[in-house]
Amino acid sequence: MTEPVIAIRDLHKSYGSLEVLRGIDLTARAGEVVSLIGSSGSGKSTLLRCANLLEDSQQGEIRFKGEPVTWRGEGHDRRPADRKQVIRIRTNLSMVFQQFNLWSHMTILQNVMEAPVTVLGRDRSEAEAAARDYLAKVGIGDKCEAYPAHLSGGQQQRAAIARALAMEPEAILFDEPTSALDPELEQEVVRVIKALADEGRTMIIVTHDMKMARDVSSHVVFLHRGLIEEEGAPDDLFGTPRSERLRGFLSSTH
Ligand code: ADP
Ligand code: MG
Repeated sequence: MTEPVIAIRDLHKSYGSLEVLRGIDLTARAGEVVSLIGSSGSGKSTLLRCANLLEDSQQGEIRFKGEPVTWRGEGHDRRPADRKQVIRIRTNLSMVFQQFNLWSHMTILQNVMEAPVTVLGRDRSEAEAAARDYLAKVGIGDKCEAYPAHLSGGQQQRAAIARALAMEPEAILFDEPTSALDPELEQEVVRVIKALADEGRTMIIVTHDMKMARDVSSHVVFLHRGLIEEEGAPDDLFGTPRSERLRGFLSSTH
């Protein structure tokens, strides 16, 4: 069996004396969609940011396609040892954020082309052709020359997804991709994520949208105060939640 795209073991992360992740195991194999659910403050965003090395962690192992992240130092002094490895992993785990984080002074096309040209060293004309394809794929092929401020939230988020795809990553990490959107715009983003799931993309999705989590995931993880309280197949987790905390959480979300 091939190595998982991401495999995290016993991950611990503190901010000062506040322990936010208290020993997390998380695996995403190629083609899997793993959703992370849980109350605000349970550590979901921190876990995503630790997974692609945007945040340091103090203990535990992170593997990318079998390759362990190498560290130097210990505890609060622990840092990744190999800068090139960090860049390789980060460019292979594209992030999509709640607030889109598009560059406001660039057109949508420029937003999508920028990193393939500057980070991956792609030829500009090739990067532009690919960017146009990705923007068409997410349904905004007619918005290439527009600036982000002239797009709806749903269109901006689809542009951010095109930008993530343009990096040809091994996996995409979403942090509440629909939470900033009006309900009528949420569905256009959910449809894009569902289409990516159907074509076998590897994704980890932090979400408050339980319907999306149930529809698109192969595995769902419920975090509670920095620990995995319960996890499983979506129909089991949502259909027959075992823990009192998960039952309480689910009844509070609708
Ligand atoms: P979630 O995404 O599940 O809402 P977060 O991962 O954002 O949770 O936060 C988990 C905990 O870590 C919270 O208690 C939050 O206040 C704390 N936290 C997050 N980021 C920081 C930071 N940069 N500095 C200090 N504490 C933080
Ligand atoms: Mg969060």
